Amino acid sequence: MYDFIIIGGGIVGMSTAMQLIQLYPDAKMLLLEKESGPARHQTGHNSGVIHAGVYYTPGSLKARFCLEGNKATKAFCDKHAIRYDECGKLLVATNALEMERMKALWERTAANGLERSWLSAAELREREPNIVGIGGIFVPSSGIVSYAEVTAAMAREFQAAGGEIRYSAQVQGLQEHADQVVVRAGADEFRGRFLITCSGLMADRVVRMLGIEPSFIICPFRGEYYLLPKQHNQIVNHLIYPIPDPSMPFLGVHLTRMIDGTVTVGPNAVLATKREGYRKSDISLPDLFETLTTPGILKVLAKNLRPGLIELKNSLFKGGYLKQVQKYCPSITKADLTDYPAGVRAQAVSRDGKLIDDFLFVNTRRSVNVCNAPSPAATSAIPIGAHIVDKVREQLAATGTRLTARIPDNPQRAAG
Ligand SMILES: Cc1cc2nc3c(=O)[nH]c(=O)nc-3n(C[C@H](O)[C@H](O)[C@H](O)COP(=O)(O)OP(=O)(O)OC[C@H]3O[C@@H](n4cnc5c(N)ncnc54)[C@H](O)[C@@H]3O)c2cc1C
Repeated sequence: MYDFIIIGGGIVGMSTAMQLIQLYPDAKMLLLEKESGPARHQTGHNSGVIHAGVYYTPGSLKARFCLEGNKATKAFCDKHAIRYDECGKLLVATNALEMERMKALWERTAANGLERSWLSAAELREREPNIVGIGGIFVPSSGIVSYAEVTAAMAREFQAAGGEIRYSAQVQGLQEHADQVVVRAGADEFRGRFLITCSGLMADRVVRMLGIEPSFIICPFRGEYYLLPKQHNQIVNHLIYPIPDPSMPFLGVHLTRMIDGTVTVGPNAVLATKREGYRKSDISLPDLFETLTTPGILKVLAKNLRPGLIELKNSLFKGGYLKQVQKYCPSITKADLTDYPAGVRAQAVSRDGKLIDDFLFVNTRRSVNVCNAPSPAATSAIPIGAHIVDKVREQLAATGTRLTARIPDNPQRAAG
């Protein structure tokens, strides 16, 4: 019998496993991941940005965990000799409407406690000669990293502390009893006193295995990128972001310096035809059928019909995609947009048709389930893990389960 079983070897599952074993060093713990290694889905297919916390509603979990996670991720990288670059980020306004929206973001960054500075058009040009705009906000604490590397280091910490990881172990059945949870993966059956699920794009399906009818469904959104040719590796000095439309959940196509020295453009946001499919040709009829017959998702699509169709057009025709980038970086040409792997975001949608904005957890007596962990969840993975550990601790007390805890003064510091 395990004390804890964790499902999901993305950054959220690994961070949670690592912090849980730090708190309960004598506990018997198992992490199950269906792929043959860690970080094979969202965690390994993203922009690699250590977000600062610009956009999120003040007081939300996203705002709090992103701010804490920015520092905690860098501290973790320092401790584990993982390369990151605190290159800073520039938000660029290119017209009067964006300038208005940028003023609102300026207020929001203040409410979220961020260090930042306001740049005139001339100051913007001085920092970024290849970028045009009528003004910008500079946020110095944004950075870049490989989240796959961070996750691999978390896995090593977990294993070094005695945790067990089984890859290629797809969980297919869960049964919660008064004193334990039974987990079925292929021919294997595992018993645990407590379960934590961090299953990303499969979050709703895994929760349903527990016998709960979730109040949300995962809507998969592809994020497609292009890679700029090597001669453009120095085209920007910072991460360059457009000013997002506040009614949209995604940040808009941005120029991202990657930790390997290359520069990517993207990601856009188009409805995915397969939850874990990364090529345009990847189609899963069951996934697509589920997406297109869920009333909540249909409502979201209907509400965002125009921007959705524009994104789709720009996904199919490079010219439209290019225009979005040329707005602030006019020297990029169509020939500069070369292929790069896409990612798929797990965005939870409520049954009544709203995109769920904040991180979402659903608990049962013997489980904590991460149900919505979109961006900036990679940045926030250490505070999310600390939050889950707190919840587990409360629930263990409520169920009268006794485990010897090493009590850190601050679980996040222990994680660093
Ligand atoms: C295009 C894109 C760009 C992004 N950019 C950024 C960024 O720059 N900065 C940032 O902070 N965030 C970014 N994000 C968000 C970030 O990548 C995710 O929020 C984060 O990786 C979520 O981690 P996770 O562990 O919850 O999910 P995942 O990494 O998807 O991991 C879930 C794991 O659960 C496993 N699993 C699922 N079901 C089962 C099962 N039944 N049995 C066993 N295992 C199972 C899966 O195989 C998977 O490995 C981006 C996301 C995308 C898609």
